[in-house]
Amino acid sequence: MLDQLKEDIFRANLQLVEHRLVCLTWGNVSGIDRKRGYVVIKPSGVSYTDMKAEDMMVVDLQGRNVQGTMRPSSDTPTHVALYRAWPEIGGVVHTHSPMATAFAQAGREIPCLGTTHADHFHGAVRVAPALAADEVEEDYEANTGHGIIACMGEVPPLELPGILTAHHGPFTWGRTADEAVQHAIVLEAVARMAMDTLLLNPSAAPIPAYLAEKHYMRKHGADAYYGQQGSGS
Ligand SMILES: [Zn+2]
Repeated sequence: MLDQLKEDIFRANLQLVEHRLVCLTWGNVSGIDRKRGYVVIKPSGVSYTDMKAEDMMVVDLQGRNVQGTMRPSSDTPTHVALYRAWPEIGGVVHTHSPMATAFAQAGREIPCLGTTHADHFHGAVRVAPALAADEVEEDYEANTGHGIIACMGEVPPLELPGILTAHHGPFTWGRTADEAVQHAIVLEAVARMAMDTLLLNPSAAPIPAYLAEKHYMRKHGADAYYGQQGSGS
């Protein structure tokens, strides 16, 4: 069942290793088949070198196993909460990539300091507040998802396709799992640039709004003209 999606999600998980966004077994990618309402996600704690496409787990939108005997990623309830809230997304990624995680641990949003950030994220990357003790006790991973959704508020998720969870790390999403991985790569890159910028100039100001808008809209607006037609880049 869902062999192609399993293959896609397997490859997307390996991309996290290739781009040095994960150590050991940290991190996970999922994708959804909206017609069936099933999510394919990495199994929990399986090393990236041993993992095979057929090991990818199929769960429903409540995170219950549909196929496979292994345990799905422990972050599965976070992923399915995002899929339930946002019908327009098709893939979710979680990593502990170092620079984005440094901002998350510091409880600092990633300000939009330049055009690289503005090309991909429409505004500062937010920090979802740490959960209270009772929220962690009740259902840590699902409540992490609810905290992300609350922090995004009315912002269209595909305009700001990533967030930091305080004291934890980044989650990103996209129309597909591949797109969510791209956003995880870009998020780490802009976090690194922001860190260096703030080291060089701790009072560096955000990019002027008119320039941020120009860059975002030329790639994503109704009259987008960046790149080749249909190339998405
Ligand atoms: Zn984590």
